[in-house]
This record gives sequence, structure tokens and C-alpha cells, in this order.
Amino acid sequence: MPDRLVLLGSKGGPALRPGGPWPSSSLLQIGGSSIVVDCGLGVTRGLVDAGISLKSLDLIFITHLHSDHVLELGPLIHTAWTAGLATPVRVFGPPGTGHYWRRFCQAMEFDIEIRIVDEGRPDIRDLVSIGEFGEGQVVAQGGLTVSALRVEHPPVTDCFALRFEHGGKSVVFSGDTAFFPPLADFARGADILVHEAMLEEGIERLVARTGNGARLREHLLASHSFAEEAGSIASDAGVKRLVLNHLIPADDSLIGEADWTAAVRKTWNGDLTIARDGLVVGLSSAKAAAGEETA
Ligand SMILES: [Zn+2]
Ligand SMILES: [Zn+2]
Repeated sequence: MPDRLVLLGSKGGPALRPGGPWPSSSLLQIGGSSIVVDCGLGVTRGLVDAGISLKSLDLIFITHLHSDHVLELGPLIHTAWTAGLATPVRVFGPPGTGHYWRRFCQAMEFDIEIRIVDEGRPDIRDLVSIGEFGEGQVVAQGGLTVSALRVEHPPVTDCFALRFEHGGKSVVFSGDTAFFPPLADFARGADILVHEAMLEEGIERLVARTGNGARLREHLLASHSFAEEAGSIASDAGVKRLVLNHLIPADDSLIGEADWTAAVRKTWNGDLTIARDGLVVGLSSAKAAAGEETA
């Protein structure tokens, strides 16, 4: 299995629009592990489309509990269970992840109980363990190390960037964050930095059509990063490739890849990928997969 990153859902925010991209989720395959990072709506479909057997699901990380990152966590695990999952699944998320999972199982109690009796399935509640983490090392086993850095995403306080390392390769996810200079140290030398990004010219149109204008604008500016800021973090960190992800806006017909590229090129000269749903980024050489457009 070649090491690779698959951007399953590339938009920022939970809303869906016809023909548009889907909320945040990614698949990271590194050192023989298949790791799901964030579980926005569409993660299950994205994994299946990426060729992943759901019953092999075993490792999931959640950056924070905004719905565009966690809404489909329960449905993903439940669907994997109905697809034959019978081995342990470890979920790592911020404080509150366990509460979400227990309440999800309560909401689905009728179906869970009936499938255990009727289909002889193992109890899904016994298969899943939840590890709630803070800053620092989250996982170190089998050559894989994962560490977390608290980032700036008010009013959410438990929002984390994640760094995955195996065999000298490293991939860093910014999580949702406003411009946060300490992220450069955390991402130092990474093969890939997946950083969230907004495009200034699209924000006003997005705010106008979403309907709660002033409040939304305030949240976006306080809690997210412009593409230029993501580029600046990547440059400071000296990463090999920057992937702009969690795009806001993601489905504005007046904004294309060239606009994102123009914005980020003000601060970043290195290898660049603008995310879209299903896009594969190879990790062996941190080079783009065939067919990917790069700039
Ligand atoms: Zn988000
Ligand atoms: Zn968020």
C-alpha cells in the first residue's frame, strides 16, 4: 500500500450546495496504517470511493467537535459495523468525543440491539474505544507517532492541529485555525502541510447568500486563515508541499483554482495542491499523483 493522502471532503463549513464539494474529511495512509482524519458529512462515501474496505476501519482522529468535522463519525463506524467490522476501532478526539459517541449509540439503540440479536454481530459499543486528548503526544506505537497542538479557533477552545509521523515521513493538518504562527514550529520540515484557507474576495459574497451576514463574517475572520496566511506558515515551517484545504468559499462559481493559487503565491513558492474532493496526493516522494494539477 503506497503512502498517500486522499482529500475526501475539501470544503469548510457544514452546508451543502448542488454540485458543490463536501465537508471536511481526509484519509492518510502511512506506514501500513489507514487513518481517517475528521468525519464531516460524506466521509463514509469518500472512503468507499477511495477503495477502502470499511470493515478494516481502525484509527480515526477528530480535530474538533464542529459538525463539519464530526457529524458523520457515528454513522461511519455504524456503517462499517454493518459491513462486517468485528475488530477494535480507536477514535482520538478532543474532550467531548466520548459524550458524542455514547449519545450516538443511545440514539441508535433500537438498531444496534436488534442487529446484535438478529444478525449475531458483536456489540459495537465494545469495539470502539475513545481517547480524548489535549496538547502533546497522542499516539506512539508501531512506528507511528501522532502529536497535537492547540490552535486558535474561537469560540472553540479544544481545536487541534495534528502531526503524523512514520519512517521519516510526516504530514501535518492545521485543523481549523486563524493565523497561528506557532503552527510553523509544529509543522517544521513536514512532507505535507494540509492547511485550511479562505479567499478574501469570496467572503463577502458568501456572507451575503448565507443570510446571517455580520455574525458569520465575524466568526470567519476571527477563527480562520486566509490563503496568504496559510502560505506564510508553510514558508516559515519549510514544508515540502502545502495543500490548501477546508476551502471557504468552496463552491463560488466565480472562484477557481487559479484564484487560490494567485493568493497563496504571495507567500509560498513551494509545491502546492489546492484540494478538491477525492484528490490523491502521493507521499512517497510528496509528489502529486498522476492527473493532479499543480502550480
Ligand atoms: Zn470546519
Ligand atoms: Zn471549526
